[in-house]
Amino acid sequence: MFTTLRSKMILLITVVMGITAITVMYFTHRDVRQVMLNAEEHSARNVLELAELNIRGGYNRLISDKIEILSGLKDELRHITTLAASVLREYRALGERGALSEEEARSLALDWIRTFNFAKGELFVFGPDGIILADSDRSVEGASLASLRDLKGRLLAEDMRYDELGPTGDSAVFVWAHEGRDPRGKNMGYFLPIAGWNWTLGGLIDFENIEAESQRKLAAIVEVLKKTFQKIRIGETGYVFLFSGNHELLIPPPGVRSEMLSNVMERQLEELASAAKQGETSVRYLDPFADNSVLVEAFSTYFKAFDWYLAVVAPVHEIQKPAEDLLASQSLIIGFVFLGALLAAFLMVTKISRPLKILTSYAKTLSSQDFTKEWGDEDRSIRELAAKYNEDEVGRLAKAFSFMETELKKNVRHAIASTAARERLRAKDEFLANMSHEMRTPIHGILGMTELLLEGKLSTKQQRFAEIIRGSGKSLLSLIDDILDFSKIEASKLELEATSFNLGDLVEDVAEHFAETAQSKGLELICSVAPVCYGSFQGDPARLRQILVNLCGNAVKFTDAGQIVIRVFADLRLGRDWQVQFVVSDTGIGMSPEQQARIFEPFVQADNTTTRRYGGSGLGLAISKRLVELMHGQLDVESALNRGTTFRFSATFPQITNEGSGAPATT
Ligand code: ADP
Repeated sequence: MFTTLRSKMILLITVVMGITAITVMYFTHRDVRQVMLNAEEHSARNVLELAELNIRGGYNRLISDKIEILSGLKDELRHITTLAASVLREYRALGERGALSEEEARSLALDWIRTFNFAKGELFVFGPDGIILADSDRSVEGASLASLRDLKGRLLAEDMRYDELGPTGDSAVFVWAHEGRDPRGKNMGYFLPIAGWNWTLGGLIDFENIEAESQRKLAAIVEVLKKTFQKIRIGETGYVFLFSGNHELLIPPPGVRSEMLSNVMERQLEELASAAKQGETSVRYLDPFADNSVLVEAFSTYFKAFDWYLAVVAPVHEIQKPAEDLLASQSLIIGFVFLGALLAAFLMVTKISRPLKILTSYAKTLSSQDFTKEWGDEDRSIRELAAKYNEDEVGRLAKAFSFMETELKKNVRHAIASTAARERLRAKDEFLANMSHEMRTPIHGILGMTELLLEGKLSTKQQRFAEIIRGSGKSLLSLIDDILDFSKIEASKLELEATSFNLGDLVEDVAEHFAETAQSKGLELICSVAPVCYGSFQGDPARLRQILVNLCGNAVKFTDAGQIVIRVFADLRLGRDWQVQFVVSDTGIGMSPEQQARIFEPFVQADNTTTRRYGGSGLGLAISKRLVELMHGQLDVESALNRGTTFRFSATFPQITNEGSGAPATT
């Protein structure tokens, strides 16, 4: 499936980008989610703190109000008591001055106390024994204060006696249960001595109404809180509620009635209360206010001063929602980026691989191109490519392709040309071979007829003419034979025969053949054949003779004085095979090294003048060399100008019998 370079590259890019996207997504999900959850939790805690601040603010206001009221009351009490004391002292002064009798003064003073209308409290007078002498509440007159203690534990009858008090008096807080009073009610009392009469004047204010006031204020605070809480939003449907230590719902969640609480969520309240006291993070439960179908997370805190618990509640899915929303949008963005990058990679890879595609299709068209033609239309793409991507690998590849094509064209044309040339040459050789063959028949006819003519009665002149015809005919025949042989060798059609012959005899025969000519030129002809050569060998005697005739003929032809030596010996034997060495040397005209280099080529003579002077076709040595090679040997020359020439060759012949007869022959 991924066989092309393009698909592989796209696969690679997809895998790399996929891994990157998955990694980014994984860490985003893990970390961003946590951060978002923390942020949500944090905001819930902030709400909690905000509510807490509200409550604490209310509490502080309440306390400071209470203190203010109390100190105001205390001042008022002191003021009234001091006023009353001065009235009583006035009565006493009237008695002392004699305006009234002592008895009348006392009685009037006590009556004044009884009738004193003090809306917030009462005035009373008690004697040194703690018995109440007068009180604006007449029902307690005659009662004893002997056992009444204040909140500090002091006995009022004793510690507030006229002789115990200083001139500025003293105050005390105590609970005084008597008829017409709240038995739990706290009282604040201020006591002043009425010297002379040994009385203690007490002013008293019932504390209880201040507590009630305080409770009213607390209720007002709760009302304010309720309004504040209604405005607080946690997630979509989160809420805040306030409950007391005895599980009374002070501020219920929106739409919930206060009485419901204890019945429906006793257990949850317990958990919230203990979590708040232990400072735990949060509590999770199924919200009873939502039919136990929504899992909520509740954060709680405790106010010891009021014994209140504040709970901030938010559905878990709402806390998680921002994180989930963010993650969804992040995933979407990452997904789009991934797809976009993939598309870009696809386009890029396509762009990069396009030149390669052009190169490939170009390479395919190479096989069908006609290389004998000049540049055609199909070549333009590759040259354009080379120009366009001049700097990079594609450009270099295109250039290499272009170069390769040029070379291919050149080579193909060259090959075609040389094939044509070879074909012409072959046709020529064939023609030559055919012609030589066809010419032999008429020449044989001429020679045969000439022989017959010479056997008849001829005049001397006719005899001479006939002999010239015979000589010319023989020369022509030998020339044609040479041409025929050479054509056969060139066409690899010449095959050697394998018959048995006596090597020594053959060499001697050739030497004898030239003996007469040599003698006529005054040359000495020496023939030396090793005894081992006088045996029966297997080979082609006619061809061996042809080589020796050629070499000896040349030696005689190109030597005017001196000697011709023919030497044959065999000193290497491999099984039946003998390697026989042939040497033909003369003391003739010799050859320069340049001439030697060329003599084995066909139709070549060492010197242009040779033809004119000595005749010959220039084929003899070329044929001999190839014949020697067919006999698994090699023909070499060694020569010096005007000093003589030596030809050497070796040939291998299997020996059939060793007759050992004959001896080196010298002619
Ligand atoms: P050709 O038939 O012309 O002699 P060959 O192939 O036999 O042709 O010889 C080629 C040439 O080599 C001769 O023309 C001659 O110039 C030179 N050559 C051959 N043998 C000898 C030799 N023994 N001494 C000097 N020149 C020789």
